[in-house]
Amino acid sequence: MRKLLKKLCGEQAGSVSIVVAVSMVVLIGISGFVLDTGVYYSKGAKLQNALDSAVLAASQELPADSVSSAAWAAAENEAINYASLNEFEITSDDLEPIYKNGSPANGIIGIRATKTVTVEYNFAKVLGVNSGTVTRTASAGLSPAGGVRGAIPLCVSDTGLSEAIASGIVRGLTIKCSSDTELIGIDPSTASGWFGAVRFEGSGASLYSELLANGYTGVLTVGQVLEMESGNMSGPTLDGFTERVSRCTDGCTAESYLPDCPRQVYVPVIQVLPSKQVKIVAFAAFFLEECGGSGKNSYIKATYLKNITLPDTAPGASGQDFGLYVSKLLG
Ligand SMILES: [Zn+2]
Repeated sequence: MRKLLKKLCGEQAGSVSIVVAVSMVVLIGISGFVLDTGVYYSKGAKLQNALDSAVLAASQELPADSVSSAAWAAAENEAINYASLNEFEITSDDLEPIYKNGSPANGIIGIRATKTVTVEYNFAKVLGVNSGTVTRTASAGLSPAGGVRGAIPLCVSDTGLSEAIASGIVRGLTIKCSSDTELIGIDPSTASGWFGAVRFEGSGASLYSELLANGYTGVLTVGQVLEMESGNMSGPTLDGFTERVSRCTDGCTAESYLPDCPRQVYVPVIQVLPSKQVKIVAFAAFFLEECGGSGKNSYIKATYLKNITLPDTAPGASGQDFGLYVSKLLG
């Protein structure tokens, strides 16, 4: 009896150690699987971040006319650089253009990056699985700016600007008139005593002059209604214009200017409302050309700039397309 008991005990001890050993293997296997899964997802997340930042940076170079344009080449370079900064190597083969309305004839308004990378496993090697692959994709594209930071307190009529663009005459458009010049697309009788200035917050000629020189630090959005700022404000116009334009010391022109040139300005594109108000329907970029009228009857002429992408994105739903864009990640 004693012998039998001893035998049973011995067997039990043996089976316990087998159970422990098997459990250990299962446990290590499970932890290994969990660790490898973690590695897999972490690599996927890093790749996604890298591709997101790559396409966002690239879309700043857009729009582009075609894949053979300099703008597309610049966009590809930006994407490749930003992916590399995030430790992923991509090539132009991993990039594809997104066309406006899906047709190459309309030009490129976005970029998509797709990349597959290998993930080296650690524990799964025990099971004979050395590596796996993870694929991620990111797209960014342009949409008309719905909000703008840094606008100057002038504006342009939507019909006037549309007509100017359609006729191809976009140089030297009057965006602030004098008593003997007219704002483009605005019938002087609908807004007598108005010379083109608008209020953002606060009023008065000195604030107007300061905003003309430095831009509005707040955000304007499509749909917003602004009060007209009445009066010719000739001196303040010349002062603000001169202060702003004198900061450009590089001989910039509308055809060739530095990216941060103070002569490049953003203005609301508006519709005139009754009771001395205007409604913002979009935004456009202009290059300040001249402040004429010898300071006594000042007007400002500026050249319309198309295909400008804002360096930073302000909130706001897109309005009409007047060639000023923001870039966003898509879906
Ligand atoms: Zn300049």
